[in-house]
Amino acid sequence: MIAIYPGSFDPITLGHLDLIQRSSRLFEQVIVAVLRNPNKMPLFSVEQRLDQIRLSTEHLPNVKVDSFDGLTVNYAQMQQAQVLIRGLRAVSDFEVELQMAHTNKTLSTQIETVFLATSNEYSFLSSSVVKEIARFGGSIDHLVPPHIALDIYQCYNQKSPMLNPISTEAIPPLKNISVEREA
Ligand code: ADP
Repeated sequence: MIAIYPGSFDPITLGHLDLIQRSSRLFEQVIVAVLRNPNKMPLFSVEQRLDQIRLSTEHLPNVKVDSFDGLTVNYAQMQQAQVLIRGLRAVSDFEVELQMAHTNKTLSTQIETVFLATSNEYSFLSSSVVKEIARFGGSIDHLVPPHIALDIYQCYNQKSPMLNPISTEAIPPLKNISVEREA
């Protein structure tokens, strides 16, 4: 059975990768499909994202990386896939994802959406969270693979992010913050 894992992946995170790894054990082939969405202003081009995902999944022989535009169900049919994989992090995801699954069912009865619950340690993680942290100089080394962290730091011109994400030393003293704000 072939499964499609569609998304923006701008950029791919350890949460996405955890889902891909687990899906690759459930299906014969998993196609990670990057949506070409003209309505979004991405940090990385589709080609960059494809390269990033390929590099992050090269150890998984039954995972293929591709891009598509238009309806996901049409793309799935083209690939002769029977399943769409979506991740669920919280109840808020559930509402949106259930609506999408129902909508897709009205477009094609052949395609089933399979939801995988996120692993606990990544339940807070999203591409936007990663970008937000990096934009303000924080470390994202624990959230994305190393080559992607470098790409992101480069985008935000951050050569040396704050070092330890869970150490209190990473947080600048309050005094400095107020001085900066006053300045
Ligand atoms: P989209 O723009 O379609 O939401 P994303 O790249 O943000 O694309 O996410 C693609 C899929 O991966 C979605 O089903 C989303 O719920 C899931 N996902 C995102 N982050 C995580 C995570 N940390 N753990 C598990 N699944 C996730």
